[in-house]
Amino acid sequence: MITLKNIYKIFNECKSNEKVALKDVNIDIADGEFVAIIGKSGAGKSTLMNIMACLDTATSGEYHIDGEDATKFSADKMAYVRNKYFGIITQFPFLLDNVSPVENVVVPLAYSKGNKKDRYVRAAETLQSVGVELRKVKTASLSGGEQQRVAIARAIVNNPKIIFADEPTGNLDNENAEIVMKILKNINNDGKTVVLITHDLELASRCDRVIRLEDGKIQNE
Ligand code: ADP
Repeated sequence: MITLKNIYKIFNECKSNEKVALKDVNIDIADGEFVAIIGKSGAGKSTLMNIMACLDTATSGEYHIDGEDATKFSADKMAYVRNKYFGIITQFPFLLDNVSPVENVVVPLAYSKGNKKDRYVRAAETLQSVGVELRKVKTASLSGGEQQRVAIARAIVNNPKIIFADEPTGNLDNENAEIVMKILKNINNDGKTVVLITHDLELASRCDRVIRLEDGKIQNE
C-alpha cells in the first residue's frame, strides 16, 4: 500500500548546520499490517511519520501511495490524500477543550456526505467504539486517558486506511496505555494498517513487525 524508496530528509539544506534526518530509507507496508517504528529520540521517527502521513515532503526519493508518487503531489493533493487515507494520533490529544467529546470527533466529517444528524450519529458510534461514554460535558473535564481515546475516535471517524500513532501512550499511565494499545490492536483487527511510532520496546514487541531507525537510517527489521 505504501512504499518509500531511497528517502532522504535534509533540514537546513543551504546552511552550515545541515541536518540529514533520514538517509536512504526504504520501507514497504502492506494493507492490514501492524508495524512499529522504533528508535531513540532524534533517530528520525517523527520525520519519517510526517513524510508517510503527507504532513511533510522528502528532500529526495520516492513515496508511493497505492501506486502514486506522493513526492510529486501538490499541497492540495497532499491534503486530500491525508484526509482520505490517514488518521493521525499524537502523544498529546490536541482537542477542542470547550466543546463536548462528540463535537471533537465530528470535526473531520465536516466535508463528508450526509446530513448533520448522520455525522453526529457516526461520531457518537465511533466514540462508543473506543469506550467513551456520550456525555454533554466539556472535553477538558475528561481524564487524560479518555481524552486520548477521543483523539483516537477523531482519527478513525473518517474510516482511514492507515492509522499513524506517534508515541500515543507517551503521556499515559500503564492502565490507560494498555487500553490504547488494545484499541490500536482492535483497529488493526478490523483490517486497518496501523503504524506505531515508539521508543518503547515492550509496546513494539506486540506489533507484527518492527522497523528500527538509528541516526536516520533503517538498521534492521
Ligand atoms: P525522533 O522522532 O526519532 O525523536 P525526529 O524525527 O524528531 O526524531 O528528528 C530527527 C533529527 O532531525 C533530529 O536530529 C532533529 O533534531 C532533526 N530535526 C527534526 N525536525 C527538524 C527541523 N524542523 N529542523 C531541523 N532539524 C530537525
